[in-house]
Amino acid sequence: MKTFDELLNKKDESGNFILSELSYANYALEPLISERTLNFHYGKHLQAYISKVNELKKDFPADVTIEDLIKASGDNKALFNNASQVYNHYFYFEQFDLKGEHKPTGRIAKLIDERFGNFDAFKKELVDAGLKVFGSGWVYLSESSDGKLIMESFSGAGTPLDKKPLLTLDVWEHAYYLDTQNDRKKYIENFLEAVDWNIIEKRLNG
Ligand code: MN
Repeated sequence: MKTFDELLNKKDESGNFILSELSYANYALEPLISERTLNFHYGKHLQAYISKVNELKKDFPADVTIEDLIKASGDNKALFNNASQVYNHYFYFEQFDLKGEHKPTGRIAKLIDERFGNFDAFKKELVDAGLKVFGSGWVYLSESSDGKLIMESFSGAGTPLDKKPLLTLDVWEHAYYLDTQNDRKKYIENFLEAVDWNIIEKRLNG
């Protein structure tokens, strides 16, 4: 099992980032997220962001990481957007397992209850936040440095590297249009059924 950093920063001999193999089959999230969506979303969209980062990272040292590029992008908005999208997509795809635990347990359950009241209230807040993003973007659940959960939205790209990211919801249309078309709410409900909270708990404790 590769670590998240290894997946995120996989490179060829010439120092270019290359798409890591998905850690499950493209059909493994059926029927919640279709094989067709995975083929395009992982195989085409994520690949395109990686290719763009390779074009834009020429002035950086060969051992640069995606996190370095996000942090050092400065005024280079294209570099920020594409590096952030690479991070977000790996982070998104590595949180699903239909055979996993579909409700929080352990420390994450306690933090969810503290911050949101209970898991149902959390789910409602995530659905609302996802519906509220105008156009394309992300909703992240993270742990702040003082140990509290934060839910925040990003328009377009954006990655909360100032916190410990725990879970992310992609609300770009390409994440769901093949499966639920204009019904973003149904997609978010399906998403919530596919998340493996054992993975979120590991991220929290990692
Ligand atoms: Mn996406």
